[in-house]
Amino acid sequence: MSGIVIKSAKELAGIRIAARILAQTLDMVTREALPGRTTAYLDKIIEEFIRSHGAQPTFKGYRGFPASACISVNEQVIHGIPGDRVLHEGDLVKVDAGVTKDGFIADSARSIPVGDVDKEIIRLMDATRKSLYAGIDQVRAGNRVGDISHAVEETAREAELSVVREYFGHGTGLSLHEEPNIPNFGSRGVGPRLEPGMTIAIEPMLNLGTGKVQLCADNWTVVTVDGRFSAHFEHTIAVTANGPEILTNYV
Ligand code: MG
Ligand code: MG
Repeated sequence: MSGIVIKSAKELAGIRIAARILAQTLDMVTREALPGRTTAYLDKIIEEFIRSHGAQPTFKGYRGFPASACISVNEQVIHGIPGDRVLHEGDLVKVDAGVTKDGFIADSARSIPVGDVDKEIIRLMDATRKSLYAGIDQVRAGNRVGDISHAVEETAREAELSVVREYFGHGTGLSLHEEPNIPNFGSRGVGPRLEPGMTIAIEPMLNLGTGKVQLCADNWTVVTVDGRFSAHFEHTIAVTANGPEILTNYV
């Protein structure tokens, strides 16, 4: 028996509303990620924005997470805790957030360049976004999770970037993390079959250097072991009879 939750039309409508608030939140923070700002400041405006829309930041208190968004800079891959770190020109800041609205949940992340950044970092960012969209392209009823995984990995390989293999995408919508796991590497034609009504988060994390990562002493922040930059993009997507519906798309 699969534990994958198929959403009703009514549930999907609720998730769509949460996802739209989240997309607007990430659009807002993209404009605010400026040199001199701290990651705690970005977290504060994210929380205010979400609550002002009658919604809750899903991550706050999730397994004890102390903030509303995961904010990870440069060599930090995911799960960075917002704090007094100041953003500088040339940084790549990854903002990952969740929105809960009337019990429905969406999860999305973006990599945001701070001011002017090196060409190599732009290339990393663009290829990571491209790998997400290659995965989304495989979101068709009847395809399998492995088709998504393979497309992400193949895009990374073509760009000569490394895939972080320890952290996966996942089902989402009624809980933050639902089945199935969606790895960013794998083979076509394997894994659970995609069906209309599934809502999933695809979230490639690609690195300029090694794909190996480690957990920091704060027990949250994940960093590259070689200190080189990482990028992360994530969308919540509905599987429909007509292909993928990107619920957290740019507004
Ligand atoms: Mg996320
Ligand atoms: Mg996620």
